[in-house]
Amino acid sequence: MSTTQPGLPTQHGPSTQQGVPPVRMAEPGAGGRFGDFGGRYLPESLVPACLELEAAFRRAWNDEAFKGRYHALLSDYAGRPTPVTACDRLSEELGVRVLLKREDLTHTGSHKINNVIGQALLTVDMGKGRMVAETGAGQHGVATATAAALFGLECVVYMGELDTERQELNVFRMELLGAEVRPVTSGSRTLKDAVNEALRDWVATVGNTHYCLGSVMGPHPYPWLVREFQRIVGEEAREQCRALLAGKDPDLVVACVGGGSNAAGTFAGFVETGAQLVGVEAAGGAAMARGIPGVLHGMRSYLLQDEWGQILEAESISAGLDYPGIGPEHAYLGSSGRARYTTAEDAEVLDALQLLARTEGIIPALEPAHALAWLARACRSGEVPAGSTVMVTLSGRGDKDAEQVMGVLKGNRS
Ligand SMILES: *Cc1c(COP(=O)(O)O)cnc(C)c1O
Repeated sequence: MSTTQPGLPTQHGPSTQQGVPPVRMAEPGAGGRFGDFGGRYLPESLVPACLELEAAFRRAWNDEAFKGRYHALLSDYAGRPTPVTACDRLSEELGVRVLLKREDLTHTGSHKINNVIGQALLTVDMGKGRMVAETGAGQHGVATATAAALFGLECVVYMGELDTERQELNVFRMELLGAEVRPVTSGSRTLKDAVNEALRDWVATVGNTHYCLGSVMGPHPYPWLVREFQRIVGEEAREQCRALLAGKDPDLVVACVGGGSNAAGTFAGFVETGAQLVGVEAAGGAAMARGIPGVLHGMRSYLLQDEWGQILEAESISAGLDYPGIGPEHAYLGSSGRARYTTAEDAEVLDALQLLARTEGIIPALEPAHALAWLARACRSGEVPAGSTVMVTLSGRGDKDAEQVMGVLKGNRS
């Protein structure tokens, strides 16, 4: 990524891009394509399940009654709309005006609830009584178990055996919520193996089971469907920013990227404004910065892989950003130039977490601390000019990470 380019590139704004149709985040092209990315690369046995889901989602998303039920649950159960907070002390520290979209304030503490409520409603609409899900660190598993409990659905969560050992508390949370956690012992015993197992379960049980996938990845229609269920984040934020900025949009919109669902939902609200869009990956899981195009989990996108096409393990302080790929729409937004993708290192992420805690009284999750870490660096280097307005999606709260952060920070001190 260019760090020598002075100031904010403005060529991405829709009004300045002459002759080129503006990038939109609408329905993907035929077969679920976002430019050269996306698609549905699956064994024949899984295609009917995806087609059924695509039809069900298309019907539901055009049905005002479905949308009404979805929005009612988001407000009465999940606590939406979440506020946008203008951060005065952090702004003074960084020399730019920082606004935070507060997904940390939702029920269960992150944006993931928006997606699982939508998919649980779809499950019921399709007449199914069971959801399966994959989970890495456990956050999507807990969210899925939450929605399953709310709707009285049976719930099975696949989790790499290694992850069940590292994330005991989340395993217990899922069990409290009535879900069954099945440890996956194949492959590297982590997230990518859990996705494979969940797909395998789904194909064998599709008559009564929905696969509740956790991010804007996987085969069509998932990247589209999950982005639509997360679009609420960006749409609320755009209106809230306009109210705070006298009708203007922010200069810059920043979100962290694992698979990319909170960023996709955020960008969907701003893609047709002049705001520059920035996605921040973990340096150890930087599929856009260091990956190459390939096929995994039913989609074509940027992936971390070796010269033989073997998928590499992502490694970061933040388990939620440990996915070795990125959603295909981000691959498209990046290659079209509409969004840019950058990275943050573990050490600066810990600094950013403490900076937000001390200046604003908000302890962020490690994932959105990546977005703040990049912003802090870019403000100090002058890459983001002083006086800019910046909207950052705070995708989740830091409670889940407090013990890990304590271990690292106290370890460093002694
Ligand atoms: C799961 C998670 C993420 C990463 O997922 P995306 O699909 O990239 O949004 C980011 N932040 C939090 C708080 C999460 O729980």
